[in-house]
Amino acid sequence: MIAHDSNFLKENNARHMWHPMAHPAEMIAHPPKVVMAAEGVTLTDVDGHRTIDAVGGLWNVNLGYSCDPVKAAITAQLDALPYYSAFRGTSTGPAIELSYRLADWFAPDGMVRSFFTSGGSDSVETALRLARQYHKIRGDRDRTKFLSLKKGYHGTHMGGASVNGNANFRRNYEPLLPGCFHIPAPYTYRNPFNETDPERLAGLCARALEDEIAFQGADTVAAFIMEPVLGAGGVIPPHASFMPKVREICDRYGILLIADEVITAFGRTGGWTGSRLWGVTPDLMCIAKAITNGYFPFGAVMISETVADAFESNHDAFGSIGHGYTYSAHPVGCAAALACLPEMDKADLAGNAARRGTELLAAAQALKDRHALVGDVRGKGLMVALELVSDRETKTPVDKATIGTVFETAYGAGVMIRVSGPNIILSPPLVITAEDVGTIAAGLDAGLTAAG
Ligand code: PLP
Repeated sequence: MIAHDSNFLKENNARHMWHPMAHPAEMIAHPPKVVMAAEGVTLTDVDGHRTIDAVGGLWNVNLGYSCDPVKAAITAQLDALPYYSAFRGTSTGPAIELSYRLADWFAPDGMVRSFFTSGGSDSVETALRLARQYHKIRGDRDRTKFLSLKKGYHGTHMGGASVNGNANFRRNYEPLLPGCFHIPAPYTYRNPFNETDPERLAGLCARALEDEIAFQGADTVAAFIMEPVLGAGGVIPPHASFMPKVREICDRYGILLIADEVITAFGRTGGWTGSRLWGVTPDLMCIAKAITNGYFPFGAVMISETVADAFESNHDAFGSIGHGYTYSAHPVGCAAALACLPEMDKADLAGNAARRGTELLAAAQALKDRHALVGDVRGKGLMVALELVSDRETKTPVDKATIGTVFETAYGAGVMIRVSGPNIILSPPLVITAEDVGTIAAGLDAGLTAAG
């Protein structure tokens, strides 16, 4: 480890580094927490202060920080073959083996092929491109548009940003890709229909999708992309009827359904995938994050048989994939993922996420009963959000200072939470215990008391 003292690190944090999703000036005025070590589900900062990680890295450290088999697999792969490419003409053992295992793992979701990437944004970009190419192969050259949900988050490449449904990730980078249109999310707390019943709201949003398809012309739409449970937009779990309705509409109009499961795959919602949880088979599925538990930047797009057939039975230039990354199918990433998959099974991650998620949501509800600051509580599995408001009647979002107090106090009390706009987002490792849930709730209680 590089030995620098605490003051050096704090003073130099933002001097030469720009942080993602942060204002450079703010990082100097309000330095972030400097995390130096982690064990199990506990982080240690540069001052030796320990916190339970209620963020799970960034929705990705599902197995916690002490996964020795993954570490061993990475080391062994670094010794054997640290890198070789999977571009036409070469491949590697771990890449082949991982594609074989994933086909088996995702078989219930109808996914038979993998295209490997270096992360979630790469996976979304890949899925959008493959969707367009699929239609071109079939002679549907006009099907180029993408539809998505407001509040949805699909990473930061130009394609992903264009289907993102949150102005914060779009405005400074416009103009984005033309031909991307958004429909209302099934967000019960705030929606343009003033509908508070989740099932009726799901029906209204599905109708909005169909209206948009009719308006654009169905034969111009390539794909609809959605997260089975919206994550970065503030944890929005749709009613169980929503995704099946979307599937049916996409089928009716020949539109591909892309499930962005960068957060939801590998157990976080309480199902092994979000699509499976809702009983839906997408055409393309974006995965990343927990596939390597944060040990290596890695991702994939899983491809259904229908889409695969279109490519594989086409022998002219339209079937050739003119897309890929130097680090597609990186052998070390493949080895890390291969080591993670059995660990996920062994730890019954999906089952534990469902059990602990129910407890965490109940604890969040109890905090809402005690603290007027909490306007809404939402969750599915170990994705939970508390939306803070300064006035429950008007639903006015809290200011930055108030939610900052919640964060700092919870941190001081030993709980790392994530703040995103007016939302506190909880996405702890899926291996947490019932006792950990109690610790997280107690830290939040302290934070809300201090800010209230
Ligand atoms: N898609 C979803 C649903 C995400 O939540 C994220 C990241 O949080 C991404 C895509 C982008 O992934 P990455 O940050 O690995 O590029």
